[in-house]
Amino acid sequence: MGDESGKTEALQIIGMFQVLPRLVVFDLDYTLWPFYCECRSKREMPSLYPHAKGILYALKEKGIDMAVASRSPTADIADTFLNKLSIKPMFRAQEIFSSWTHKTDHFQRIHSRTGVPFNSMLFFDDENRNIQAVSKIGVTSILVENGVNLGALQEGLTKFSENWKTAEKNKQKWLTKFSQKPNSSDGNA
Ligand SMILES: [Mg+2]
Repeated sequence: MGDESGKTEALQIIGMFQVLPRLVVFDLDYTLWPFYCECRSKREMPSLYPHAKGILYALKEKGIDMAVASRSPTADIADTFLNKLSIKPMFRAQEIFSSWTHKTDHFQRIHSRTGVPFNSMLFFDDENRNIQAVSKIGVTSILVENGVNLGALQEGLTKFSENWKTAEKNKQKWLTKFSQKPNSSDGNA
């Protein structure tokens, strides 16, 4: 309880970026906690990866919303653990269900609940197939190897702002092209 180790560092990392996601989405098993919750009992007291809670608190303090996207077949155990860890109220959306799609339907539901567009979301997961599928729909997606940590947070925010800047540049290109069109046809007339 109250273990916010890494929060100060996470706040510093977030402070380095001008462009930030509106919503950060986390997988559960092997992303927020180091186990499959389907293999555990509800009676146990779970623990998170060392910096996970600090990162959640830092995002909260910066006014960034959070959500959960998990394909765990035991949503009841996952929910019990989120409660026991006192982090359940931090999530605006919590989608936990098994599915044949690689979480794209989880993200459709998260979008419906929050109204946040995919290109304003950042996603952390330990399975490459989920990362591949979710990045295709426009969400900046980061593969974690030892759970979510400060390195993954920095990588995620870096990639998010790169994607954002690329999209803005493309938008500008299209606007320029569009606004030049009438002039060039005028010239030809
Ligand atoms: Mg996982």
